[in-house]
Amino acid sequence: MRLLIIGAGPGGYETAVSAANRGVEVTIVTDGELGGTCLNEGCIPTKTLCHYAELMEQNRKAGIEAHVDFTRLMERKQAVIEQLRGGIEMLMGNKLITLVRGKAVFRDAHTVSVDGIDYKADKVIIATGSKSASLPIPGESNANVLTSDKLLSIDSVPERLCVVGGGVIGLEMASVFQSLGSEVTVLEYFREILPRFDTDLSKRLKQAMQKRGIKIETGVEVKAIEGNRVLFDKKGTETAVETDVVLMAVGRKANVASLNLDDIGVRYSNKGIEVDENLRTSVPDVYAVGDVTGHMMLAHVASFQGRRALNDILSETDNIRFDMVPADVFTLPEVATVGMTEDECKEKGINIKCMKSFFRTNGKAVSMDETEGFCKIVVNADDGKLLGAHIMGAHAADVIQEMTALLYMGATISDLRDVIHAHPTLGEVIGAAVNN
Ligand code: NAD
Repeated sequence: MRLLIIGAGPGGYETAVSAANRGVEVTIVTDGELGGTCLNEGCIPTKTLCHYAELMEQNRKAGIEAHVDFTRLMERKQAVIEQLRGGIEMLMGNKLITLVRGKAVFRDAHTVSVDGIDYKADKVIIATGSKSASLPIPGESNANVLTSDKLLSIDSVPERLCVVGGGVIGLEMASVFQSLGSEVTVLEYFREILPRFDTDLSKRLKQAMQKRGIKIETGVEVKAIEGNRVLFDKKGTETAVETDVVLMAVGRKANVASLNLDDIGVRYSNKGIEVDENLRTSVPDVYAVGDVTGHMMLAHVASFQGRRALNDILSETDNIRFDMVPADVFTLPEVATVGMTEDECKEKGINIKCMKSFFRTNGKAVSMDETEGFCKIVVNADDGKLLGAHIMGAHAADVIQEMTALLYMGATISDLRDVIHAHPTLGEVIGAAVNN
């Protein structure tokens, strides 16, 4: 079996390594850095900056005068990327993996050309990821309008930052740069920030961020960027924000161009490449995983889609549940969610009850001076099945993992009530929510 993978982000390189470990001969083609968006200009650099933002906040709370050496911080960010990239380079050293640098173009479903050389394979996985989208408004290509990858490589902290889009990227960057000293304004089109998240989370995160000094305008339409002014419309009134840098964070679009998909018949839309539950495209033997499918654009989804595709290629089955995907937002405080939201359940007519606990009553959170936040668990009121969990608070992204496992196992509220949580830990917020 010969497998060819296009793209070396989490969907591509992790699948390449698993395939080689299972005896498959793999060619992986990339025209970018190993690790893709996640490692080079997404999750990892963001998390490195978030860590320093957290340190700043903690120092402030402790009354320690904190000053960030931004140049050192960016050097540290680069060192983290390079260290992790080195790890992937080592993995690519597997004798069953051939790494090819360059742009891949399909010749037919089993042949991909890179710089004039043809590579043949029995199966091909497209894992080309996504890139930042923009708004078709005057001034969108001005020099002071940056995408998140550019903002993550900026050489000084802007005095004023205006973030267009109150989604995951926009809020993470707003949170980091506010902690580093920028005066931040977020402009969101919908009525709430994080429109797809549980409404309680969106509302409380908005309050928490506003309390920290971030200005958030929701229900606004950005009209134009004129020099240092971002013009927007709110309920029919034209207003402007003065800023030094504008971050455009209005979503990402699948990288489908230049693969020659039309010629080989792979169906795709504006959202991305169409795939079935086994990540098969409309063309036999061609699969697509990760952001390029336009599904949940998350690194861990890409990895698990790759795993599913590989299992399908090797005629093996798995029990991966793509309806139980945890999603985290690394703001201050953090936000994490898994399973169904309260609104979703109501729309589907499911009889539910929502149970809550608060970080202010959690011993570890009080000790850490991290009392902001809550944990909300959505339970089916008829049969007691756990349906979803939504957490805002310190280390929410780590705390939610337990709920992901319980939801995956189809656990009930009685199961959760009997799970012993160590004391004192932040994880106790989960037990406390259902034991009230
Ligand atoms: P997003 O879809 O999360 O948010 C975009 C936001 O922009 C939305 O809230 C949307 O309503 C708003 N918007 C759209 N048009 C607008 C307009 N004209 N004016 C004002 N606001 C407008 O997209 P993103 O934040 O760019 O992130 C892209 C993808 O990357 C997402 O799928 C996200 O989940 C993923 N991501 C995940 C993480 C993480 O897991 N921590 C981090 C970063 C990005």
